[in-house]
Amino acid sequence: MFKKILIANRGEIACRVAATARRLAIRTVAVYSDADADAKHVRACDESVYLGGSAPKDSYLRWEKILEAAKATGAEAIHPGYGFLSENEEFAQACADAGLVFIGPPPSAIKDMGLKAESKQLMEKAGVPLVPGYHGADQDPALLQREADRIGYPVLIKASAGGGGKGMRAVDKSEDFAAALASCQREAINSFGDDAVLIEKYVQRPRHIEIQVFGDTHGDCVYLFERDCSVQRRHQKVLEEAPAPGMTAAMRAEMGAAAVAAAKAVNYVGAGTVEFIVEQRDGGAMTFFFMEMNTRLQVEHPVTEAITGLDLVEWQLRVASGEPLPLKQDQLKIHGHAIEARICAENPDNNFLPATGTLQVYRKPAAASFERAPVRIDDGVREGDVISPFYDSMIAKLIVHGATREEALARLDAALAETQIVGLATNVQFLRGVLHTPSFSQAQLDTALIERERAVLFDQEPLGLPLAAAASIARTLVTEAASASNDPFARRDGWRSHGALRRRFDFQFRGADESAVLGYGRDGALNLNVGGVDGPLAVTGLPGGEIEVRFNGERQTVRVHQADETAHVFAARGATRIVAIDRLAHAGEVQSEGGRLTAPMPGKVVSFAVKAGDKVARGQALAVMEAMKMEHTIAAPADGTVEELMFTPGEQVAEGDELLRMAAAA
Ligand code: ADP
Ligand code: ADP
Ligand code: MG
Repeated sequence: MFKKILIANRGEIACRVAATARRLAIRTVAVYSDADADAKHVRACDESVYLGGSAPKDSYLRWEKILEAAKATGAEAIHPGYGFLSENEEFAQACADAGLVFIGPPPSAIKDMGLKAESKQLMEKAGVPLVPGYHGADQDPALLQREADRIGYPVLIKASAGGGGKGMRAVDKSEDFAAALASCQREAINSFGDDAVLIEKYVQRPRHIEIQVFGDTHGDCVYLFERDCSVQRRHQKVLEEAPAPGMTAAMRAEMGAAAVAAAKAVNYVGAGTVEFIVEQRDGGAMTFFFMEMNTRLQVEHPVTEAITGLDLVEWQLRVASGEPLPLKQDQLKIHGHAIEARICAENPDNNFLPATGTLQVYRKPAAASFERAPVRIDDGVREGDVISPFYDSMIAKLIVHGATREEALARLDAALAETQIVGLATNVQFLRGVLHTPSFSQAQLDTALIERERAVLFDQEPLGLPLAAAASIARTLVTEAASASNDPFARRDGWRSHGALRRRFDFQFRGADESAVLGYGRDGALNLNVGGVDGPLAVTGLPGGEIEVRFNGERQTVRVHQADETAHVFAARGATRIVAIDRLAHAGEVQSEGGRLTAPMPGKVVSFAVKAGDKVARGQALAVMEAMKMEHTIAAPADGTVEELMFTPGEQVAEGDELLRMAAAA
C-alpha cells in the first residue's frame, strides 16, 4: 500500500479521499488555489502545495504543476477525485511517465470511453445494448438529418465529448432538427472544444440506472449493484438511491453482466460507472440501454457504500497499489436502502440559477462519517466559508441509510429539516418538496419527475405569515429577555389601548408589507394579531438557542437566524424568511409633523450631520441617535432649511424631545 498520496482535487471529494487515507495511515498532500488557501480540504490533509489562481485552468487543471508537487512531496500516487483531471487520459499517461500511480483506470480505458460516439461503437461490438441511434464519424448535417428522420422523433442530439448534462438538445420534429443541431454544435465547441455529435432516440419517461463496477489489475471485475439517479434537473442528478426501486434480481444480474462486459471491453481497472437509460413499458417491464461510462469515482458513490458497507476509496487505493479486489461477486450483498441528496447553492425558483455567497450559518444534522452510518454528510466547507463562482455549486451531500426505502426517506426528510444554511440560496427546501411528492414517495421515478411535479415544487411557502411572524417576534422577545430591557411596561415603542400594552411589528414577507400587533396582558400573557390570525402567543427559549412557539393552534420548535434585517426561520415543516422593518429606524419621518423633529424614544444623541442654516433635501440624514444598543438615523421629512440644533452630541434625550428644528421649503 502507498505511504503518501497527492489528492488532485478540492471540496468534498478531496476531504472524502483524505478521510479514507487517514484511516489507512496513508499520508496526504492537498493542492489548492488562491480561493482555497484556507479551505477545509487543505486542513484535512497532512501537507499542501499551492497551485495558482482561483480559476481551474490556473490551478486544479495545471497538471505539470501537480506532477511537480507530487514529486516534491514524495507522493507515490495521485487521486484525481471527479471532475478536473479525473477523465483526462493525457494526465493519466503523464503520471505513469513520471513514475507516479494514477488512481484510476489505464489511459487507454479513459480514451476508449471518453467520447460517447466512439464508446458506443466499442459497446456495440461487446454486445452491450445501445439506444437506437447514430454514432458514426460522418458529421455531414444532411446525413445527420436523414439519420434523425430514420430513428424517428423525438430524438436527442448529444455532444460526443459532452458531460455534466451539457451539450444535449431534444428535437420533437424534423423541421426543428437543423436549428437544434447548430445550437448543440455551438455549445459543444464552446464547452468541450469538439463539435462532434451523436443522435439517439429520445426515450420517453426514462429512468437513469447506473451500475458501479470495479476492476483490478489481475483481470477480475465485479459490479456493486445499481443506483437510480432518475431525479434530475437540467439533466443533472439531484437525488440518487440504491437499490433502484422495482429492480428485480434477474434484471440486476443482466445489467450487472452488461456493465462488467462494458468494463472488460476496455480492460478497465479501478472504480467506474456504467450508465444506462431504462425505458419503462406498460405493465412494469423495463428495457435498458448503455448510455456512457464514467471512468472515475462518482459523486453519488456513497449510496453504494451505504448498501454494501464498503469503502470504495479504500478499494480504489488497494487496486491501484496492485492488490486484488477485496471481495468476489458472490460475496457482495445489498443491505437496506440508501438515498443521497445533493445540497447545492442555487435558486430552484429561478430555474436553479447557481448562487454564490458566504455560509453565514451552516448547521448540519447529527451525522457520522462511516460508510453505513444512518446519516452521513460529505462536504468540503465550514461555516463562514465562501461559495465562490469558480467551482461547482454543490455545498454538501447528505446520505441516509435505512432498513427500507420508507425509513431512509423519513430519515432524509428529518436530516434536511435540520440542515440550516443562511447566506445564500440553496435547494434544501426544494429537496424536501421533492421527497414529499407522490411520485417520489411512491417510487414512480423517471427523469421528468421534477417537471411533472412543478405545481407543488416551485414558489412554495412552507410556513406561512402567521408562524413566520410569530417566530421572528419570539426571537425578539427572547433576545430582549436575555438583555436588560426585559420589562415590556418600561418599553417606549409600544402604546396602550384598553389598558394593555401593545407593540407593532412591521414586516416584509414574500414581497408584501405586513404588520403584526403584539399585546402584553397584565398577567404576562401575550396576544398576537397577524395575517388574519388573532390569539395567544407563548414563547419559550430553549437551551441551545431553539425557541418553542405556540401560536395559532400549533406548537413549533423553531430556530431563527437573524442576518441584518432578515429573520431566517427554520421549523420542522420547512424554512422561510421574513424581513423585519425597524420602524424606529424610519422614525424621523414618522415624528416630524410641523417641522419638529423629535426623539422617537429615550436615548443618546450620537451626532448631527447638519448645522443651523444648512439646506437639506428630503430623506437626507440629519442626526444619529442611539437607543436599544442600536443607532437610528433621523432623516429630513421634506426639503428645507435647518434652523436650530437643540442638543449637543452625547446628551441624553427623552422620548418626544425636540432634536432639531427645520423650516420646510415652500
Ligand atoms: P452526461 O455525460 O452529460 O452525463 P448522459 O449521456 O449521461 O450525459 O445523459 C445525461 C442525462 O440525459 C441522462 O441521465 C438522462 O436523464 C438524459 N438522457 C440521456 N440520453 C437520453 C435518451 N436517449 N433519452 C432520454 N433521455 C436521455
Ligand atoms: P439584534 O440583532 O441586535 O438582536 P434585531 O435586528 O433583532 O437586533 O432588532 C433590533 C430591535 O428592532 C429589536 O429589539 C426589536 O424591538 C426591533 N424591531 C422592530 N421591528 C421589529 C420586527 N418587525 N421584528 C423584530 N424586531 C423588531
Ligand atoms: Mg452521464
